[in-house]
Amino acid sequence: MAEKKTFKELGLDEDILAAIGAIGFETPTPVQAAVIPRLLDTRRDFVGLAQTGTGKTAAFGLPVIQQTDTGKTDTQGLILCPTRELCLQITRDLTAFAKRKKNLRLLAVYGGTPIEAQLRALKKGVHIIVATPGRMHDLLRRKKVNLTTVQHVVLDEADEMLNMGFQEDLEAILEHVPDSAQTLLFSATMPRQVASIAGNYMNDPEEITIGARNAGAENVTHVCYTVHAKDRYAALKRIADCYPNMYGIVFCRTRIETQDIAEKLMKDGYNADSLHGDLSQVQRDRVMKKFRSKDLHMLVATDVAARGIDITDLTHIINYNLPDELDSYTHRSGRTGRAGKKGISVAIVHMREKFKVTRIERIINKKFEHRQVPSGTEVCEAQLIALIGRVKDVDVDHARIGKYLPEIKEMLAGMSEDELIKHFVSLEFNRFLDYYRDAPDLNVDESAIPQKRGGRKTLTVKPGFSKLFINIGMKEKITPRDLMGLVNKATPGENVEIGNIDITTNCTFFEVETKSAEKVVAALSQLEYQDRGIRIEAATSDDDRGVGMGRRRSEGRGRSGRKRPPNRKRGERRSDGFKRKPKSHRKGGTT
Ligand code: AMP
Repeated sequence: MAEKKTFKELGLDEDILAAIGAIGFETPTPVQAAVIPRLLDTRRDFVGLAQTGTGKTAAFGLPVIQQTDTGKTDTQGLILCPTRELCLQITRDLTAFAKRKKNLRLLAVYGGTPIEAQLRALKKGVHIIVATPGRMHDLLRRKKVNLTTVQHVVLDEADEMLNMGFQEDLEAILEHVPDSAQTLLFSATMPRQVASIAGNYMNDPEEITIGARNAGAENVTHVCYTVHAKDRYAALKRIADCYPNMYGIVFCRTRIETQDIAEKLMKDGYNADSLHGDLSQVQRDRVMKKFRSKDLHMLVATDVAARGIDITDLTHIINYNLPDELDSYTHRSGRTGRAGKKGISVAIVHMREKFKVTRIERIINKKFEHRQVPSGTEVCEAQLIALIGRVKDVDVDHARIGKYLPEIKEMLAGMSEDELIKHFVSLEFNRFLDYYRDAPDLNVDESAIPQKRGGRKTLTVKPGFSKLFINIGMKEKITPRDLMGLVNKATPGENVEIGNIDITTNCTFFEVETKSAEKVVAALSQLEYQDRGIRIEAATSDDDRGVGMGRRRSEGRGRSGRKRPPNRKRGERRSDGFKRKPKSHRKGGTT
């Protein structure tokens, strides 16, 4: 096997070598070994399939900095990325890499903040712009930026930019870049849209797969816990209690859920806070500062808000809810297991989501470990051991404690060593013992789920067909014909065959050919029916009990079991679970 090249052998100059040496980079990562020479020695465009956490920023950043001529004031490098956080992170990294390169002017350009300061900086001349697509497009429309001198364009996390609805902005920006520029596109996945950007705006790009999996992917264990939807939060707490040294991100699907879970965790005494697009920048910075300094142990976040977080020693990623776009799971789990450390990516799923786990396994090319939610006793054991660890490791201030020792000894006189240990430990441990004394088993006992109840007709699934659940029923006056129309509309040209249809008050169960089931779920999830988001998923045996919608309510906010007023129900349900329209992610580039 060939010897690994050093940064110097890759062709980097002394000033850059000194700067990265100071940061502590010793040997190039595989992405850096592949990308740096391509940027320094060739002009060919390329598409890099690479994940987050692989050292991409230095891979493109170092050669772009090296090739920037600071004798000119022209903009020579343009880096586009999906979010404000990532934009700032890249700019911070590039600033550190360019520490010894005098007069290099870098600018972060992003939305959600007044444009004036960015305009002033642009006016003075900027060599490298790091931008989110929306704000960059805005500047181009205002004719405040000139890209005709750009020599390197980097599209970082292209799949994420497209997921967030930035396609038009990207295309408009790329129209302004000269053909002579070298364009690099990085993406963790290669959906059709990304391939089409590469096809239309890049010149015969070379495709390179570098660290196809996250550099840390080997170090990540994927763990799945199956619970009833109503027990999701209780399961989260058990998992958190079982890992008292957890330092991780809890991913939720919506801003409201993020806020809700963070508030519950805080109320329950956890060191948690939320990060999502409804926070002001000041609030976000405050939360991130606390998280970075480990004053916060659990950050509850939406996918987009968490994009720019670059912390190498997270122990856990928790998928409180799996992402709508299952590809995003890779981005989430890639936030742990970095820099040679071990990490755990946890998925808390309910019965109907098991098919998603199988699909994710195909994407990550790895199997989940299916674990039992820890019992109360197991949590207490874990806490006890952690407590003893803390007692053992605590810094003892001998000088200060020393003077109290005689009095303390006198008070404790007569206690044996065993008794002393028990008393000290109980001080903290009793809280957990009390809390978990009668803790129920949160695991789903699949064999105990009755197949029929309440006399409602059970749908038996035809061979070759799968049964689906959809949240539209008699209340919406849906007919079998409407449903078939909906499926046909969502899957044009597919000719999906539909079997039995069972319309109930709140929802409908229907059969589709198994080979089309995934497609139907994916397509219909994007639609609305009578102004409300469609929720569709694989039905499971417990749906046959006729309690499907009741369970869904408890999954949301309604605990009382009473019906909510119709107007409130609609708003609440949608914010909690239903698909948003894709464009809604778009505002300001941060969610
Ligand atoms: P990135 O994928 O660019 O976000 O980088 C992920 C993490 O790896 C960041 O914390 C970088 O500072 C770190 N990193 C990047 N390249 C190297 C390297 N060659 N040696 C050590 N750490 C690195």
